[in-house]
Amino acid sequence: MSLNYHRQYNREIREWLLKVFAFAASIPKDRLPRRPCPVCSATESAFYANNDYLDYEQCNRCTLVYMNPAPRADSVDKGFLGEDELLTEYFSIIRKYKTSLPDKPDPREDGKLKDIYSFKPCGKLLDLGCSVGDFLHKAKFFYDVEGIEVNPRTASVAERHFRVHKHFLAELDLPPVYDVVTLHQILYGVPDPVALFRDIHRVLKDDGILYVNTPNADSYAMKLYRGKACHLYGYTTLNVFNEQSLSALAALAGFEILSFRTEWLDIYLTDLAEYYDHPENFIHKRNSHLPGYEEKIRQEDVFQKSLNLDLNKRGNYIVAVLGKHGRHSL
Ligand SMILES: [Zn+2]
Repeated sequence: MSLNYHRQYNREIREWLLKVFAFAASIPKDRLPRRPCPVCSATESAFYANNDYLDYEQCNRCTLVYMNPAPRADSVDKGFLGEDELLTEYFSIIRKYKTSLPDKPDPREDGKLKDIYSFKPCGKLLDLGCSVGDFLHKAKFFYDVEGIEVNPRTASVAERHFRVHKHFLAELDLPPVYDVVTLHQILYGVPDPVALFRDIHRVLKDDGILYVNTPNADSYAMKLYRGKACHLYGYTTLNVFNEQSLSALAALAGFEILSFRTEWLDIYLTDLAEYYDHPENFIHKRNSHLPGYEEKIRQEDVFQKSLNLDLNKRGNYIVAVLGKHGRHSL
């Protein structure tokens, strides 16, 4: 069963989010530095949304949506390193409910594997920001897997099973031996995505691929909920990409996009009613205070799936595969 339908899990996540919002409200916004676009360095941008605490702008040149002003990179890194108590609490909630290891999946059907598998059915895979190793437990059936995780608490769980590098990629002297590098829900929180992509470019083989799964700024859910969309919760989302800004980032680091799709509508009638009737209580996808919420969401998921909606570029998450420029043909 998906955790989205788990009542107690949703309640704990909602309680945790309320603490995140309280922390975001305490951040002295006037002391945060402004920054140029972290992809194309342009300084011209337009206001995009406010999440009740922090502002997001959209770059006039590459269309990236990014937090501005934003915390300095060194304080963001401290969060990755486990010094952010709220992030640590989040991982402990997740660990409580994700207890079983996955069986061998069908790599042509599995949502996390199929895009990678269609380009690289085997080889050496590095999961960057592997946390406790959930994806590695799936990928190990098909790839020679390693992870990078700088948070010592989550890394200690992953390294019971896998080789885990416990430093930022830029600090590691890894050779260009990897066929696949994966970024699962990492890119949105990275202060310097161009530097990260260049570091990844260096450790990939010439025909290696980079898999990216990240929030989509062009989604219907973002257009509808703006500052209340789940991608802009709290204080940890620095960058929300769309196809254009991801292409700009790829080009700057020597990559080309080999495949691009989006997934999940993430708009529920149950949520919409709360959004309009009780906006003060609304938390996108976490309205677990509503009676029967999990069952309603489950039924809506079944219904939405039956509609076979063509989300095209409007799903709430981007799933993209990138290759080194000039090394692949579509
Ligand atoms: Zn830009």
